[in-house]
Amino acid sequence: MKDMNAEPMLEVRDVVHKYGPVTALSHVSLSAAKGEFLTILGSSGSGKTTMLRVISGLETPTSVSCLRIGGESVVGVPAARRRCTTVFQNYALFPHMTVVENVAYGLKIRKVPTGDALKEAQRALAMVQLEAKADRNIRQLSGGERQRVALARAVVTKPAVLLLDEPLGALDERLRQDMQLELMDLQRKLDMTFVYITHSQEEALTMSDRVVLMRHGRIEQSGEPLDLFDHPVSRFAADFMGYENILDGRLVRRDGAVGEIDLGGGAVVRGKLISTDLAVGSPVSIALRAERLSPVGPGGNGIDGTMKSKVYRGKYTDIVMETVAGALRMRSWHGAPMENETASRVGWKETDAVIFAKGSV
Ligand code: ADP
Ligand code: MG
Repeated sequence: MKDMNAEPMLEVRDVVHKYGPVTALSHVSLSAAKGEFLTILGSSGSGKTTMLRVISGLETPTSVSCLRIGGESVVGVPAARRRCTTVFQNYALFPHMTVVENVAYGLKIRKVPTGDALKEAQRALAMVQLEAKADRNIRQLSGGERQRVALARAVVTKPAVLLLDEPLGALDERLRQDMQLELMDLQRKLDMTFVYITHSQEEALTMSDRVVLMRHGRIEQSGEPLDLFDHPVSRFAADFMGYENILDGRLVRRDGAVGEIDLGGGAVVRGKLISTDLAVGSPVSIALRAERLSPVGPGGNGIDGTMKSKVYRGKYTDIVMETVAGALRMRSWHGAPMENETASRVGWKETDAVIFAKGSV
């Protein structure tokens, strides 16, 4: 666990940013501890890049009540004098320089003597397993190698906060997964604060100490990856976290953390309550992961239904059952056929379902 009591390396409070009539950020606050891997997750247009540009100083926010990097206020401080560096998706390397010259560049403009700068650059290249290619031309590198050069160039100046704007977005799936692990490894070795942007929930859950989920310029939910995965606070968050089934109903009973909801048509089911202040009678939704559902016999927590379709997808098989509350998708991961395929009911453990206020979509 990071020491959340120590002064945060990054602190942003109540930032608003408008591009003409478009509000890109609406009263957003966040902070990151030293050595923390913080991910800003959200779909395209949710305000992620704007947030990084405000932090780095490339964008002057419409208003902000506090913006501190490395313990110092940077309100009004030009980008070049903030202790943060940004890594972009498109590398932005200098094609006419060698690998090591690219990495040393940031030090040279900070007036570090050439010999020292090159030595530091070599060390940074070793961190990303590229020391053997220090004298290559940028054009001779693969996409993954270029991104590693960009990383080395960014960390060599030892920023208090490293900002990464979808840095793996241009890489193919396999390489992306390898680079995710390398980045996590690098971040731990450096004990540096990373603020990482992605639209991929899988990437966010894999890499982060903490995730901030954004929606239309606001924070929808933030917490540790498992928190977001298992306790989405809204339909939007559940949907974003990959819950395949979300049904609407009315809360009819609550018993501690367990709620019972009426889905209509005689279907009354149980799940865990995300919020403790949901009143009996209020409109709620229940979210269910396909792999947590199974075809069962009569009785127990679940809904009666009839088998509608079965789709084999290699690594898993999806079965859709039609119920009074709508179609429910079940998933079996082992390639083996689901047991009890003639079952007349979809069942789940009440702790595997989450109930939250219905809210807006
Ligand atoms: P994300 O990085 O999450 O995709 P952005 O921060 O780039 O989101 O954009 C947030 C919103 O601000 C979007 O509606 C986008 O169209 C708008 N926006 C971003 N940059 C500009 C700009 N330079 N001028 C006008 N609108 C912009
Ligand atoms: Mg963006």
